[in-house]
Amino acid sequence: MINPREPVAKPPGAVVEGEAPDLGLPVQACLFEGKLDPCILVIFGASGDLTARKLMPALYNLFLRGALPEPCCIVGVARTDWSREEFQRRMQEAVAGQEAVDMSRWPEFAPALFYYDMDYQAAASYQALGEALAEHDRQFGIGGSRLFYLAVPPSMYPVISLRLGEAGLSKEGGAGQGWVRIVVEKPFGHDLNSARELNRAMHRSFEEHQIFRIDHYMAKETVQNILIFRFANAIFEPIWNRGFIDRVGIIAAERIGVGHRAGYYEEAGVLRDMFQNHMMQLLSLTALEPPSRFEAEQVRDEKMKVFRSLKPITDPNSEENLILGQYAAGEIDGQPVPGYREEKGVSPDSLTPTFAIMRVFIDNWRWQGVPFYLVSGKRLPEKRTELIIHFKKVPHSMFEDIQMGPIAANRLILGIHPEEKITLTFETKNPGAVVCLRAVTMDFNYYQNYRGPIMDAYEKSLIDCIQGDHMLFWRQDGVEMCWAYFSPLIEECETCAFLERLIHPYPAGTWGPDEAGRLMRELE
Ligand code: NDP
Repeated sequence: MINPREPVAKPPGAVVEGEAPDLGLPVQACLFEGKLDPCILVIFGASGDLTARKLMPALYNLFLRGALPEPCCIVGVARTDWSREEFQRRMQEAVAGQEAVDMSRWPEFAPALFYYDMDYQAAASYQALGEALAEHDRQFGIGGSRLFYLAVPPSMYPVISLRLGEAGLSKEGGAGQGWVRIVVEKPFGHDLNSARELNRAMHRSFEEHQIFRIDHYMAKETVQNILIFRFANAIFEPIWNRGFIDRVGIIAAERIGVGHRAGYYEEAGVLRDMFQNHMMQLLSLTALEPPSRFEAEQVRDEKMKVFRSLKPITDPNSEENLILGQYAAGEIDGQPVPGYREEKGVSPDSLTPTFAIMRVFIDNWRWQGVPFYLVSGKRLPEKRTELIIHFKKVPHSMFEDIQMGPIAANRLILGIHPEEKITLTFETKNPGAVVCLRAVTMDFNYYQNYRGPIMDAYEKSLIDCIQGDHMLFWRQDGVEMCWAYFSPLIEECETCAFLERLIHPYPAGTWGPDEAGRLMRELE
């Protein structure tokens, strides 16, 4: 059990306050704010992939950083019949399988792990779970605060939240007077109706302030940095509008194929998997108006205004603003890889898109007429996520007579992955007696002069849930507004009599189908 009453030795490699004096703040102070409330974290689906690969490593890392609440219990539940020891052993294996992890303190962490098998449908299971949690509260002096994390297939969200409510486990200020929160993973709904239905189902037991709809993209440091870049620097915001910006690109390219997630992906496709959620978050951060305070509800209000201002794409068949593709066999790193339809679990005549480029317009004063190109796909040549701001060309070139060709416009790239950096491209003069212009880049890496620890997206999300900070999470109206934008479009595509003609094949390892070339060139 992780308990403050039993102080533990400082771990090797632990953060030392003030280790990076150039930050101006002790590093630890930037990681998390003060002491977290003691709580019980209950993971539904504790036998699954997400728990093993993401949640448990994140929790263990938080423990190593001294960033877990004390005391704190981590209770895994699932249908699988494991003992507590079996759960602890499997979690140890899962964490040890991660890169460069210090397992020397696992014996201190493991006693915080508990496991109960349960039937998610049966009311009696929740009564038993409630009693077990109350016992943990009493035994460790936790105080009644609970975080329920649903790491189960989305079809299970309604029944689990309903049963938690029926068992009295969703009520705050209950038994131990603590808070109660619930975390749900993506996908949140399959379309507008299912998202609304899911919201209604969850609200039967939980109030909106108790619900945390996770988007791990949002918790990436560089994504959070978009707002800092825009609003903590006076020089960029005055030019962040249609007067100076010609077009914006938002790219989230993946090299991997569908992997073991074919069952889910066949139903989802790229528009549901990437656009309705992650791409919309990146778009809103790039386009939103400055809120008066950096506070969750204000930021989420501003995002809503962006979502509301999106100009609908009414006719996907024209392919003017949307091109879809599906990867065929090709090569990645010189190695042959199968096409999407040859992947395990994919129908041989699947019409699920794995690539899309969309040209989106935002109908407001700031962005009128500025196209936003959103590109995402699987089996593209590289894994890369970035925002590209293309500024307008100079209005008149006084170098016209001496410069061959046009002067390149300034370009700002906010790199999110793999390089977390900012790059600004501008024109200079080549050394010499002749005036020759040349574009150069000024690079900034986010970790320049930084020697402290870096939190992974799941660590950050977990801390925020425990702190009750909604900043990086979807609010109900945002989810529904984005589905309201995408659902008619997706439906139009899926019910189109000649859908086959809209899904253009592209060889794995290329930047999408030839048909996307026109929009890709506009973006360049
Ligand atoms: P899994 O398919 O591994 O399922 C998690 C657990 O849920 C399983 O161990 C199983 O536990 C239980 N489960 C599976 N199918 C059913 C079913 N039909 N009915 C009841 N219980 C079931 O999922 P993941 O761990 O991969 O993902 C969990 C959630 O997180 C999903 O919503 C997914 O979309 C989301 N997600 C996952 C990511 C990942 O990288 N894995 C990334 C982003 C989101 P048991 O049988 O023991 O009850």
